[in-house]
Amino acid sequence: VAKPAVFLDLDGVLGIEMQQINEIDNFNSIPDVASAVRHLNDLKLFCCSIANRSGLAKNLYSVSDVDTFYKRLRDLLKKEAGAKVDAIYYCPYLNTKAGGVKPDFTRWSTWNKPNTGMLIAAAWEYDLDLKHSFVIGDKSTDIEFAHNAGAKGILIKTSTRKQISKGNERFYPYPEFVASDLMEAVKWLDRYFKSP
Ligand SMILES: [Mg+2]
Repeated sequence: VAKPAVFLDLDGVLGIEMQQINEIDNFNSIPDVASAVRHLNDLKLFCCSIANRSGLAKNLYSVSDVDTFYKRLRDLLKKEAGAKVDAIYYCPYLNTKAGGVKPDFTRWSTWNKPNTGMLIAAAWEYDLDLKHSFVIGDKSTDIEFAHNAGAKGILIKTSTRKQISKGNERFYPYPEFVASDLMEAVKWLDRYFKSP
């Protein structure tokens, strides 16, 4: 039976928003994030980290930088709360018009959020029920991303991002829930999955 999943945006949700991922030492998790992920683990919800890593196409950092970064993320989650993500997806692609320069990663891709490629791939790979899954993100485009795939969206109003709407989305998508941080979103999901 296909299972529900929680897709966690990276910048601004699991971690502080960073421009330069290769400055690995600058990466620290947001307080309580590891505990919130642990809560999702305890609820037996499949947890998936999902992000655009277009800096690869812009040649700002390398694949090994990205690997090191995700290792640090996994280590922090484990160390702080015994928490884990079950899968990690990222989109390295960007088209020329959007600033892609590195040939390997410069192209249009269905994996680029808010296109649904990463969600569809995860659903096939791990037998996930997208209709009953949630994307948690800090931008209105994350909610658009969820709805494009028939999933549901929770918007986090993180302190790092005062303005939620960037104004470049095609329409304003209404999230199923708006939370002040990841922990509040997870507590809401706890209640939701006990009595949807
Ligand atoms: Mg974000």
